[in-house]
Amino acid sequence: MKIGLYGGTFSPPHNGHVRFAKLFVEKAALDKLYIMPAGIPPHKEADSWGTPQARLEMSRLAFGSFAVVSDYEICQPGKSYTYKTLLQLRRIYPKDALYVLVGEDMFLSLDTWKCPEILFSAATIVCMHRGTDMREHVEAAGTAYKRRYGGNIIYLEEAPLAVSSTQIRQMCAAGQDISALVPAPVAAYIKQNGLYRYE
Ligand code: ATP
Repeated sequence: MKIGLYGGTFSPPHNGHVRFAKLFVEKAALDKLYIMPAGIPPHKEADSWGTPQARLEMSRLAFGSFAVVSDYEICQPGKSYTYKTLLQLRRIYPKDALYVLVGEDMFLSLDTWKCPEILFSAATIVCMHRGTDMREHVEAAGTAYKRRYGGNIIYLEEAPLAVSSTQIRQMCAAGQDISALVPAPVAAYIKQNGLYRYE
């Protein structure tokens, strides 16, 4: 059995996230994918653009047709730490079953995450290239992680969509059309709820 975990702020989820999530399911031959919007993301500024509930709802709209969108981290008190979520999943699934997807920007900072040794021992880390010029750094970081923590790392080479949530929030704030960059129900939700009108 193969179980994937893809966490993020998802403020908002965009077509790049959806594409990566689908590729993750396909390339890692997952039986189930958990999408995990972070409650309070440890690496980001306070979420001033959308409540956790809005991010959860938009994640359901974006990923719900092919993945399980979990409110586990959003319901936890304090900051969201992936190692804690993994330990929770380990209560249900065996170690070899778990795969965690991270974009290469996140991959480069994995050893600054809380309890990296648990991350690497509890799951296989799947790093998706985002088409940036970070490849050399990514490979060097992967070698260093393996030396320090052991564990398994898989690299997926897929042409990414050049889109970020930051860009979408900025476009919304500028009154621009985001419909080509996010799933249609997410665009409708943002419009209906007047999200991201002020960056
Ligand atoms: P922000 O612009 O607010 O920093 P983001 O677009 O990077 O947000 P996150 O929610 O922080 O989105 O990302 C969650 C995960 O998705 C991270 O591992 C990140 O590397 C990855 N990711 C984000 N955008 C893309 C993209 N266009 N293609 C592939 N992976 C992406």
